[in-house]
Amino acid sequence: MRILLVEDDPMIGEAVREGLRLEGYAVDWVRDGRAAESALATEAFAAVLLDLGLPKKDGMALLRSLRERKASVPVLVITARDTVADRVAGLDAGADDYLVKPFDLDELAARVRALVRRAAGRPEPLITRGAITINPATREVTVAGKPVPLSAREYALLMALAERPGIVLSRGQIENRIYGWGEEVGSNAVEVHVHNLRRKLGEDAIRTVRGVGYTLAPNTRA
Ligand code: CA
Repeated sequence: MRILLVEDDPMIGEAVREGLRLEGYAVDWVRDGRAAESALATEAFAAVLLDLGLPKKDGMALLRSLRERKASVPVLVITARDTVADRVAGLDAGADDYLVKPFDLDELAARVRALVRRAAGRPEPLITRGAITINPATREVTVAGKPVPLSAREYALLMALAERPGIVLSRGQIENRIYGWGEEVGSNAVEVHVHNLRRKLGEDAIRTVRGVGYTLAPNTRA
């Protein structure tokens, strides 16, 4: 799952990026408002983490223009501005949630999970597809109740395929969702992850749709 991080403070940016990567997200980090705008114009993100005090274009202005053009991507504002008036202004401008610096990385990760869950129209915290159950809070995956340990990339791939029932993703779309910018992607990396996931979840867990891509097979049994 791809997250856009908009933060000009190098220490906070680095910490947030690493924290979210460990949670299995692909994180694209930009350091000013203009770079954020061009990233949002060209890529699809599961969520945006937005600092307000930014060079080139202020976070609040960015948020307003995003909502004016009806972009529905969930936005979590992360900022040092912590007056009630600032929080109200941020939420009124279209932010979905608000976190005041300094914040705890575990809390940030939990809020991102909640945002992504709400955006997907999933009030329940567990994702179930056939015999496969995913707990995004703990990143625990079970097949017919038995825990199956996955690598961070395998987990990210499974989450991408489980995002919506029946979704079919091409190799390019999968690469987009599980790798951030500048990350080295081997030419057969996706095939390797699919192969490993099938081995762990059951050979019929992921179906190849010829000429299109991959889909999670709904009636998976262990
Ligand atoms: Ca800042």
